[in-house]
Amino acid sequence: MQKAFFIDRDGVINTDKNYVYKIEDFEFIDGVMDALLYLQEKEFKLFIITNQSGIGRAYYQKEDFEKLTSWMLKEFEKNSIKIHEVKYCPHSPEANCNCRKPKTGMIDEICKAYDIDLKNSWLIGDKDSDIKCAQNAKIKNTIQVKSGQKFDETKSQATYVLDSIKDIKKIKL
Ligand SMILES: [Mg+2]
Ligand SMILES: [Zn+2]
Repeated sequence: MQKAFFIDRDGVINTDKNYVYKIEDFEFIDGVMDALLYLQEKEFKLFIITNQSGIGRAYYQKEDFEKLTSWMLKEFEKNSIKIHEVKYCPHSPEANCNCRKPKTGMIDEICKAYDIDLKNSWLIGDKDSDIKCAQNAKIKNTIQVKSGQKFDETKSQATYVLDSIKDIKKIKL
């Protein structure tokens, strides 16, 4: 069994500028490469799970997302970081799909494809809905970061709250 780190994209990996789909708008958050290398050293498999309702809302196309994703993965590769999969939900909230976080469709698919040790897995995200998704998937180790959407820290359901992914080494994983 493999322990996984489920990573939200916007607000965790890159600055959340609302519906980022162009390479020129994609800004890696400070320290993200080091943080992911650290997680790899700790033998986590890395997965990105991201809601991309901008596709369902027709703000951009699947092809835009895929192009940006290939570019992002190349940047990770340059830093010796391997993301095992990028899962995304392209639906609008009204579609009522099973993959849009806080639903667990993306995590469920990953668990079908890999032998994941959920007990020792983690999820990191910026929104309350990310943390809710982890809870729905029975992942109890969670981190909510303040580098993305604003949230009420006093009401956070996450195990840890950090300024950003850069601070991940402060946590005992
Ligand atoms: Mg986010
Ligand atoms: Zn979906």
